[in-house]
Amino acid sequence: MIVAKFGGTSVADAAAIGRLIGIVRSRTADRPVVVVSALAGMTDALLALAGPVQDGDGAALDGAIEALVERHVATARDLAGAESALPAIADDAGLLRRELEGSLGRRLRPAELDALAGRGELWSSRLIAAALEGADVAATWVDIRPIMVTDDRHGRATPHMPVLTARARGCLRPLVEGGRIAVTQGFIGATVDGAPTTLGRGGSDFTAALLGAALDAERVEIWTDVNGLMTADPRIVPSARTLRAASYEEAAELATFGAKVLHPATAQPLVKAGIPIVVLNSVRPEDPGTTIEPSAELERLGNSPVRSISWKRGITVVNVRAPRMLGAYGFLRAMFEVFERHEVVVDVLASGEVSVSLTVEDRTRLDAVVRDLGELGEVWVEHGRAVVAVVGIGIRATPGLAARLFRAVQPANVEVISQGASAINMTFVVREEDGPGVVRRLHQEFFGT
Ligand code: ADP
Ligand code: ASP
Ligand code: MG
Repeated sequence: MIVAKFGGTSVADAAAIGRLIGIVRSRTADRPVVVVSALAGMTDALLALAGPVQDGDGAALDGAIEALVERHVATARDLAGAESALPAIADDAGLLRRELEGSLGRRLRPAELDALAGRGELWSSRLIAAALEGADVAATWVDIRPIMVTDDRHGRATPHMPVLTARARGCLRPLVEGGRIAVTQGFIGATVDGAPTTLGRGGSDFTAALLGAALDAERVEIWTDVNGLMTADPRIVPSARTLRAASYEEAAELATFGAKVLHPATAQPLVKAGIPIVVLNSVRPEDPGTTIEPSAELERLGNSPVRSISWKRGITVVNVRAPRMLGAYGFLRAMFEVFERHEVVVDVLASGEVSVSLTVEDRTRLDAVVRDLGELGEVWVEHGRAVVAVVGIGIRATPGLAARLFRAVQPANVEVISQGASAINMTFVVREEDGPGVVRRLHQEFFGT
């Protein structure tokens, strides 16, 4: 069997869902489990309901929920059989309205935001299961929440692999073996007590990988709106090329540093069993896409060891200077303890003679982090930065590559160069507004286009 995941743009409207039906039909012999995202833009639109809730604007809230439901109604209208999903969607929207009306005038808590954000996947999966049935594909809608058991870190919950493996096997295998196609939700899960959670934005890829590992799938297909993993984001570098093959490590590095095409954790559950991930374009299903697997033969593009360039905006650099602590045992540990205590994830690290620079993406707990770091030394923070990552084959060990890279980046100023341990990437920090230009110049330098 295989797991086939369809992202937001691949289920955006009736035409996209029509393509999905064709793709799923072409995979029948592979016995797919289908994982879907919310209709494109739906998760953002749902989360935006927190605005009228906090403002106590019941009328605006009603209107906004109505518009979201209407989008599903309009999509169903053009898909044979899909309208049978609408009563369930309308009922759930009614439930959502009552839940949110109970919170009018206040800020939604993380647990409530998860319950809200997850509606997009619940509704899209109902629509798609009904549309598949309408097209004579034997499909069964499956609620993933009792299967995808997670901890209670709302907004970025961690799944419990042993439990979800047992439950996925118990619930999904009989369907697969019975010749039915399970259609289920990416992104969402629930705690053991049944409280809704989410795996973090873009988390549907991760869901697909978790189910692929649990069910020992032959491969996990990620259907999206580009031809695969590319040498750069094609929105920034239109001439970017598609990698035919990639390693898990490359995929993870690229995703961690901003290549949105895969959630950073996607490869992780699949490494042990060596299950391949194939990234495919739902608009051009005949294209081969990118296969990510352990034995991948990594081609050299543009005769350079560089394989891809990614970047991530919205980065804050935190600098700590502690001359008195220089060499003091425990300084780094004390510093990391601060980040750990506030559960703030650190990406790039560079340490100089007397100072340490770290990058963080999540600013919600930054004030508390800065306050606590203040006890260790002088702290200053720079907002509006971006991390650029150049990923390739052993590039840290390639003579002259760093010099070539920093020449190409000019006139942008490189602020922090990571001394991280990965042999396959070099990362550095630039000002956010310089990011796209830097990516384009690096692409020109290493790929000639
Ligand atoms: P989906 O909704 O299918 O999950 P996403 O929008 O999450 O799709 O991810 C696909 C997008 O990732 C592409 O449209 C592309 O702009 C972006 N992207 C960023 N970096 C890369 C890269 N290196 N290769 C391919 N796509 C990339
Ligand atoms: N719909 C969710 C999001 O927009 C999850 C996903 O698409 O992967 O983040
Ligand atoms: Mg995505």
